[in-house]
Amino acid sequence: MKYEFPVTPCLNPKHKPDMNNLPFGVDMADYMVVIEYTEGRGWHSGRVVPYAPITLEPAACVFHYGQEMFEGLKAYKSVNNEVVLFRPDMNAKRANSTAERICLPYMDEEMFIEAVKAGTKANIDWIPDAPNSSLYIRPFIIATEPFLGVRLSKSYLFMIIFSPVGPYYKGGLAPTKIFVEDEYTRSCQGGTGYVKTAGNYAASLKAQEKAHQLGYSQVLWLDGVTRNYVEEIGTSNAFFVIDGEVITAPTNEGTILPGITRNSVLTLLKEWGIPASERRLTIQEVFDAHKEGRLNEVFASGTAAVISPVGELRWKDDVIQINGGSIGPIAQKLYDTITGIQLGKIEDKHGWVEKVCDL
Ligand SMILES: *Cc1c(COP(=O)(O)O)cnc(C)c1O
Repeated sequence: MKYEFPVTPCLNPKHKPDMNNLPFGVDMADYMVVIEYTEGRGWHSGRVVPYAPITLEPAACVFHYGQEMFEGLKAYKSVNNEVVLFRPDMNAKRANSTAERICLPYMDEEMFIEAVKAGTKANIDWIPDAPNSSLYIRPFIIATEPFLGVRLSKSYLFMIIFSPVGPYYKGGLAPTKIFVEDEYTRSCQGGTGYVKTAGNYAASLKAQEKAHQLGYSQVLWLDGVTRNYVEEIGTSNAFFVIDGEVITAPTNEGTILPGITRNSVLTLLKEWGIPASERRLTIQEVFDAHKEGRLNEVFASGTAAVISPVGELRWKDDVIQINGGSIGPIAQKLYDTITGIQLGKIEDKHGWVEKVCDL
């Protein structure tokens, strides 16, 4: 191990919630990771400490100008009695891609992965056993220098917090109702849509609230320039199956968050010989395909829910039911395969699963 993360023992462990009935992202595990950054010194003082509030000056840069990045991944208990992570190297790479865009300091990807592992090990008692449950891991960096004025901060804090989570959707893979948002947008070329930075999510809340009020669980985002092209579903990547071809928005315009689940989905589809394309697709094409009986499935992909089928889409006043409102075969097979690999039930041919420790 290249990095050391000394552990300060937690003397007052928290009362654990009902680990068989966990909500998403509410309970925090006993330990967190902290690494500091000081200009001239770089990243230093990495450690694992009891989860606790932190003290920052009200003038800290992050509160005013939002210089922040975050990541999301999960630790699982595999059927081989190991604690494992899924493709943490991809999170480390994406963290640096976000850091580059938001002018946060670069971090060694090995440091990121070892910090995640150190915190996961400390929180081993917090990894749930129940099916479809896991320990959600949230690494993030904030700019901490106290000053007013828009410029780069000279100090940063990298932290990782851990939250035991149950299935994202209670009752399994129930298809969701999605509202096509044609007023607000989340991303445009030259912007920050391809990175995980706080401001993107603040900017998305209003559309999400609007969708909720109309009885929809999430929004389908359209492109920021023409409002014609489909981009993402909430905070997950969107897939459309038309005439047996799986289509998702391309990442090369810089408007799509390059999901790790998205990448896994595309890799598996290629292996299975299912035609998959990364290309622009208009919302009109989606609704036309439905009218012609050619829209087979719509689903979203992301770490939290893995695969989430869409049962209904509303675009302006047009409402369509997809696959009779039930999950389609491609979404089901992707869900079963990805979760199977994560849990060690299906052979990991790609080296996606990374062991943390034995149970
Ligand atoms: C995190 C995120 C995703 C999904 O990425 P995964 O790596 O698959 O979890 C998709 N879109 C947005 C906007 C996101 O923030």
